[in-house]
Amino acid sequence: MKIFCIGRNYAEHAKELNNAVPTSPIVFMKPPTALLLDNQPFFYPEFSKDIHYELEIVLKICKNGKHVQPEFASTYYDKIALGIDFTARDVQEKCKEKGHPWEIAKAFDQSAVLSSTVDLPQNYQEGISFHLLKNGIKVQDGNTKDLIFSFNQLICHISKYFTLQQGDLIYTGTPSGVGPVQKGDKLEGFLGEKQLLSCEVK
Ligand code: ZN
Repeated sequence: MKIFCIGRNYAEHAKELNNAVPTSPIVFMKPPTALLLDNQPFFYPEFSKDIHYELEIVLKICKNGKHVQPEFASTYYDKIALGIDFTARDVQEKCKEKGHPWEIAKAFDQSAVLSSTVDLPQNYQEGISFHLLKNGIKVQDGNTKDLIFSFNQLICHISKYFTLQQGDLIYTGTPSGVGPVQKGDKLEGFLGEKQLLSCEVK
């Protein structure tokens, strides 16, 4: 099982971190050991002082494929979930400055929070809204109609380089409003008005 993540897939989020809007998807990966399931708590790691939340829509791949063509891309996912791409922003900044890979900032244990999955809504192409509460206050409010690269474009792009396998996950990018967490914080993710995710920081 592979976990793909997409960086800077919402223009407003690219801007808030002073990054250029990309001309092709920015792909990185996390290992399966990064998964944090079943609303378990997140333990703040000792190697960072600036862990950020990033709420994202996650696609679950339902069949194997390579070099997927645009007209078939939508048949490769049928369930979605919410995820948090926890990021050690201080560590990531150092990696970016040096031009180094950023796995230690993005792919560490518990960095991929994942909710239970739900069926892909019938009308998903009109946009899926999702939001994050931190200690009860709305901090991120996104809609997939604002994606720079659509679900189908991501499937085509990723499968040029990597064989998609049933069960693989794609974290499709975070909208604006990312920010730090501290021990004691509670994060709650909503798909539409339905709560799918809850995560306490310990
Ligand atoms: Zn992310």
